Amino acid sequence: MLHVKNVTFGYSKTKVLEAIEFKVEEGKNLAIIGESGSGKSTLLKLIYGEYDLKEGHIFWKDEEILGPKYNLVVGYEFMKYVTQEFDLMPVTTVEENIGKHLSRFYPEEKQRRTDELIKVVELEAFAKTKVKFLSGGQKQRVAIARALVKQPEILLLDEPFSHIDNFKKQSLRRSVFKYLKDNNIACVVATHDKKDVLGFADQLLVIHDSKIIEKDTPERIYNNPKTPLIASFFGEFNVIEPYGIVYAHQLQIVAQSHLKATVNKSYFNGNSWLIEANYRSETIFIEHHDELKEDQEIHFLISL
Ligand code: ADP
Ligand code: MG
Repeated sequence: MLHVKNVTFGYSKTKVLEAIEFKVEEGKNLAIIGESGSGKSTLLKLIYGEYDLKEGHIFWKDEEILGPKYNLVVGYEFMKYVTQEFDLMPVTTVEENIGKHLSRFYPEEKQRRTDELIKVVELEAFAKTKVKFLSGGQKQRVAIARALVKQPEILLLDEPFSHIDNFKKQSLRRSVFKYLKDNNIACVVATHDKKDVLGFADQLLVIHDSKIIEKDTPERIYNNPKTPLIASFFGEFNVIEPYGIVYAHQLQIVAQSHLKATVNKSYFNGNSWLIEANYRSETIFIEHHDELKEDQEIHFLISL
């Protein structure tokens, strides 16, 4: 189990993180969300032992994670960290990068293991390609495979799919997160993409103003967003009294209702349209199956 115990941290006098406390059981997936600059990467770096802690402690099982003051080499065998920068060796091939830390005394095992992970990150066609010829997204995939090659017990991922184009993203997410579950590897994922969270994370942690403002399953947080900031992570939403926060898809356009609005604009959204409308001189958003004309009067219901 990872245990982050009451950690407070700042690079200078300003606190970036304050009284951070949470646990991640073995094999579980914890997602951390928060606005840019809220301290997600800092938290991952602290878990990895990149900085010395003045307040609080971090444990993996019985071992305390210690910073550079106590560790000549940062990092532990049981924990791997894929940073936002992913430093790879540019003039060697994808498979050499991935297998770099595997023993060359067992070439067959090394090849088998490298091939297995190349498959997990869907880079089969690039095994022999030098890393310098890869796109940002492909490099990101090499970095993930390399982090997994020696079977860590816990993996830290910083916006792991941010460079990967949409054509590949969803299948890659499924492949990587399935691999982690199948191999009982715990992971902590910092992200601003709800698709990294929904369907994969066991727990979700929201950081705001240097504190944890919410910690629960993604389902519960999604179904009951406590603040507009949290709702905005999941999609278009409205604040309509006395109902509170309601997502655009919870508003339903009907023939008759006491809730009336006027259409401003319709945005094509793929499987639906997002209707921007005026309701009591405020802008609201409604998900609808069709485009609606500007200035049209509509009636809507709220289905919670
Ligand atoms: P996030 O990953 O959520 O975008 P970061 O952890 O990168 O946030 O940054 C949190 C805050 O700490 C920001 O205000 C950032 O400017 C500051 N910060 C990050 N790294 C450093 C550093 N090495 N030195 C000083 N300040 C830093
Ligand atoms: Mg970051």
